Amino acid sequence: MVITMSGNATAAQIDHVIERIRECGFREHVSRGTEKTVIGVVGTNSNRNEIEALRAAPGVESVTPITQSYKLVSKQMKPERTTVRIGDVCFGGPEVVVIAGPCSVESRDQLLSTARAVHEAGATMLRGGAYKPRTSPYDFQGLGIDALKFLSEARAETGLPIVTEVMSTEDVDVVAEHADMLQVGARNMQNFSLLRRLANSSRPILLKRGPSASIKEWLLAAEYLLSGGNPDVVLCERGIKTFETETRNTLDLSAVALVRELSHLPVIADPSHGTGRRRLIVLMSRAALAAGADGLIIEVHPCPERALSDGPQSLDFTQFSEMMAGLAQPSRRIANAMSLVF
Ligand code: PEP
Ligand code: MN
Repeated sequence: MVITMSGNATAAQIDHVIERIRECGFREHVSRGTEKTVIGVVGTNSNRNEIEALRAAPGVESVTPITQSYKLVSKQMKPERTTVRIGDVCFGGPEVVVIAGPCSVESRDQLLSTARAVHEAGATMLRGGAYKPRTSPYDFQGLGIDALKFLSEARAETGLPIVTEVMSTEDVDVVAEHADMLQVGARNMQNFSLLRRLANSSRPILLKRGPSASIKEWLLAAEYLLSGGNPDVVLCERGIKTFETETRNTLDLSAVALVRELSHLPVIADPSHGTGRRRLIVLMSRAALAAGADGLIIEVHPCPERALSDGPQSLDFTQFSEMMAGLAQPSRRIANAMSLVF
């Protein structure tokens, strides 16, 4: 249920509603907008009638049920868009966030040179996998803690905040110690024990869409994070499995546009994994921004042909800097205007 307070509701009236929600065995989720305060009622208690009766309480404008199965992530619960801040970086604000870096951290030199190059080209965050979810157990699995140290060093030098994947509950503390944002990989989107653990983390989460997950399942995964206490969630569309085999995945840009209607959370796109093809990255980046993405995550490697993972979809430094120059100042307004030209 969502209780919308009228524009001129007093603080005492809002407090009274919150008190009643708690008395009825629910929890409140308050979002104070510029015009109105909206109070979400969360919980599984059966005292719904008592909540509905709050229609008559002073200062209450309306009491409406939330029709979606996800609640806290829904636009109904919070009509205003959420921003997720990491230092100077702001997801969901007017500027597009560009995260760039290698698929895997392979060595200190590889990471530091990439960090410098993407920083120079205008990226606003650095990525790099330390713990890699690989389809084959014989493939490179990541450098683990050493990679985390190199990432910290790259941040110290360039000032770029870091996002890296955390694959299991037992790694959460060590990854959170080094990284500014924790990535839940596509394969782990429905790892509910990991989601529950990350709900208790103070780090923002980048939640990738599972390769076979519906939009509803993706938003319900985000609901685990919000309902467990972590409001700082950024969604990432990274392509889904379809019958198509010419591309590695099918980048579902309609999901980007739709998620902006269904949810207040920021959403970014990953054209690298979404296509698996280097030559498509620039165009699909522009398309993603035109569809409303709040940012991009792009794989960049000093020498893609030597990459230990995802070489065919990685840009080299020149290609990345040309892409960034093409996006000009990567603001959504400009990106939208450019998409009209294409
Ligand atoms: C990655 O970001 O390198 C990665 C493994 O992504 P995904 O979980 O989307 O496959
Ligand atoms: Mn990758």
